[in-house]
Amino acid sequence: MDMSNTMQTRRDFLREAAGAAGVAFVRCALPGTFAQAVPAGGPTKHPPLVINGRRVQTVDMHAHCAVPKAGDLLQQQIAPATLLLDPQPLSVRLAHMDAQGIDVAVLSINPNWYAADRDLAKQVIDVQNETLAEFCAGHADRFAAFASVALQFPDLAADQLERAMKTMGLRGAAIGGSVAGRELSDPQFHPFWAKAEQLGAVVFIHPQGSAASGFSPRLQGNGALGVTLWNPIETTVALTHLIFEGTLDRFPGLKICAAHGGGYLPSYMNRSDRGCQVFPAQCKPGVPSRPPSEYLKRLYYDSIVFTPEALRHLAAEVGAGRIVMGTDYPYPWESEPVEHILRTTGLTDAEREAILGGTAAALLGRGTSNA
Ligand SMILES: [Zn+2]
Repeated sequence: MDMSNTMQTRRDFLREAAGAAGVAFVRCALPGTFAQAVPAGGPTKHPPLVINGRRVQTVDMHAHCAVPKAGDLLQQQIAPATLLLDPQPLSVRLAHMDAQGIDVAVLSINPNWYAADRDLAKQVIDVQNETLAEFCAGHADRFAAFASVALQFPDLAADQLERAMKTMGLRGAAIGGSVAGRELSDPQFHPFWAKAEQLGAVVFIHPQGSAASGFSPRLQGNGALGVTLWNPIETTVALTHLIFEGTLDRFPGLKICAAHGGGYLPSYMNRSDRGCQVFPAQCKPGVPSRPPSEYLKRLYYDSIVFTPEALRHLAAEVGAGRIVMGTDYPYPWESEPVEHILRTTGLTDAEREAILGGTAAALLGRGTSNA
């Protein structure tokens, strides 16, 4: 088979499917299946969410997409075909959002450009942010988006974030849990963190793949370990460095939201609290300035932890006010994101409303239509 023709056909199809705005809603890096087919007549629509007589606007803070033009730009270097899979018209995505009871999706693009040179990275980010901004402006009632930034060039990333937020209406940035193998706590990223703090940006951290970690050999074998184990590990390592290297002390105003409930960290933070007591020789005095677990309560987390008990525990560790709803769309990790929160015990109705959308709306500076 002539793969170049196949690729061209696929890209052409993507462009057509993306429509005028140029956005395609796709799988990201997970091979496998996802039932995107919409039943005849469309999926059953979720009824409007009402709690105590009040309509609650729901917000999905973890929703993937990709921009076909950016895939074209990256093709020679970063194998964009792994991202550009199974596009679907906007109506299909809206039907799935309606079926899940999602009023607003906050779109993000998983970084796959951290190996690109400065010129290419700039082109990719420009086309992604401009496309997302145009798309969201045309569908402001249902979509918002995080900007992309070329974080391998922190000064450029800071400028891109500022432009995206001040002139393009984007709501923060989506970044990886590491940048081409470098930790987010590396001082070279301080200019980006400083700008994010200054702008009041929400920074959504999503794990990168395991390839740059050196951990891949242990993730072979049965069980999709690259996503089940590595993704939460990557997030756990990223947050831990931000705490233990003093990044969160240096930039206390940061609004960081971690994917997948923050990985393993909120479930096992007590060990981190004890580590420097047991092995003080491996710790810098006074860094971090507070007990490590206190920093958990300064971050935000999505609700993708699968069971009501896990969500109850996350709320107990970080505070219900630090959790926002996520779906990981189009991955079918969570088929009933709203019910997942409604079924969680130990939450007040006000806390449920906050997780379902109130906290996200406040973070993003987006008014809610709750009435
Ligand atoms: Zn995701």
